[in-house]
Amino acid sequence: MVTSTSAERVADQPGDSADGSPTATSSPAASPEEISAPPLSGLTVAIDPGHNGGNGAHPDTISADVPDGRGGTKACNTVGTSSDDGYPEHRFTWETAQEVQTALSDAGAEVVMSRSSDDSAGPCVDERGRFADAADALVSLHGNGTEDRSARGFHVITAPAGGRAGDDTARTSEALGRALAEALEATGFDRNPAYDDLVVRTDLATLNNAAVPAVMLEAGEMRNAEDAELLESRQGQEHIAEAVVTALTAVFGDAAP
Ligand SMILES: [Zn+2]
Repeated sequence: MVTSTSAERVADQPGDSADGSPTATSSPAASPEEISAPPLSGLTVAIDPGHNGGNGAHPDTISADVPDGRGGTKACNTVGTSSDDGYPEHRFTWETAQEVQTALSDAGAEVVMSRSSDDSAGPCVDERGRFADAADALVSLHGNGTEDRSARGFHVITAPAGGRAGDDTARTSEALGRALAEALEATGFDRNPAYDDLVVRTDLATLNNAAVPAVMLEAGEMRNAEDAELLESRQGQEHIAEAVVTALTAVFGDAAP
């Protein structure tokens, strides 16, 4: 956007080159900051928009047992939750994933997605972890469905080592999870006080089946009216995307420790 605006301004001022003032070619060279690579160039990020709009119409598919990543099995997928005004979790995760994809691309990252539409069924939770083998990190997007409508706020989940991830990967997942929570707070999202700063669970097959650093974001409580309004808003979704970029940059970016 900025580039095209500047270009238009230049084009609107024909006197720039005709009146002897410096032209673009004689301008000072761009500073190193301006020509350095974007912060996430070289990184491939797997984005998993939770659930899918066709899951409800395919109960046999989504109830099938699949590997849970720790030696057991789990149902392929679920329909997910929904806000009281009828905004389904699968649409929230799908729409937010588009914002995340754009923000990551702008930051120089490659993006792979676990699903390519919001009106089919699956993939199953094991595949939602395994598809990230093609990436350097996995971010799984969800909205939570606590029955208590006064509950609100986000929480971030990782899995400990013992699934497909080893100790180093699990540690990086934790670092990424904490960075994501901090970045979300910085954009104005509130933590759900019912949860730890970072929730560590062994029962989430998406995370267990990931061999790369992986986090799951429960971005808010969809049955809470205030959270639902935030999650349904373009601004709320953009803030999530911004936070994902900030967190990945903190852990994987050029300036990361
Ligand atoms: Zn979910």
